[in-house]
Amino acid sequence: MLRPLLDLLLPVDCGGCGMPGPLLCTDCEVLLGPPVRVYPSYCEAGPPVYALGSYRGRLRTALLAYKERGRRDLAGPLGSALASALLRLQLGPGSGGVQFPPGSGGVWLVPVPSRRSAAARRGGQHVELLAQRAAAALADTGVAAAVAPALRVASGVRDSVGLAAAARQANLAGRVLPRRAGLPPAGTPVVLIDDVVTTGATVAACAAALLRTGVEVPAIVVLAAAGAHAASYPSAG
Ligand SMILES: [Zn+2]
Repeated sequence: MLRPLLDLLLPVDCGGCGMPGPLLCTDCEVLLGPPVRVYPSYCEAGPPVYALGSYRGRLRTALLAYKERGRRDLAGPLGSALASALLRLQLGPGSGGVQFPPGSGGVWLVPVPSRRSAAARRGGQHVELLAQRAAAALADTGVAAAVAPALRVASGVRDSVGLAAAARQANLAGRVLPRRAGLPPAGTPVVLIDDVVTTGATVAACAAALLRTGVEVPAIVVLAAAGAHAASYPSAG
């Protein structure tokens, strides 16, 4: 009820196409569809990876606006899309079967961490904010959900943008560390959350770090997948 009023007072542009109106217009919102299994090259041995859309066109514009251009208001619609995907993965028959055992405390989300310097430049850990919005949206539907900021990046890691696949892997191998204080209760499976998957090197390193700590990762869920494995998505315009 407050939202339309705020839109009138503080007009915004869609983060994807730039049209005045909602934060993410319906034409751009549909680019985040149901979760689809993708197969990034570095994730062959790890947990299944699911993506909601293809990292190109208006969706790429929206995710860059969120991450790099200060559009933190997009965390709401992007987090809601993640929440819908998590509900489908948890509840949908034949969806790939991510099950959360009774008594596990609901869905625990572990955000992929950014380097501290990158997070400081961007105004915070952007994936953690997405996870928080997703958890809040899940709670609104009656599904218990919480964020476990269980990982951090050790110092000395370069931003992966612009690095080739092999360099990304070397960049992160052994550099993603557990944060003991952020771990969920022992025995709780978690879903690893990220914004974009390309080679999968980052999420693979994160999942490996969690597994070494004894945390089960039944699934990795990302907003968008880049590269050839995204070919099955509807056109991103
Ligand atoms: Zn739009």
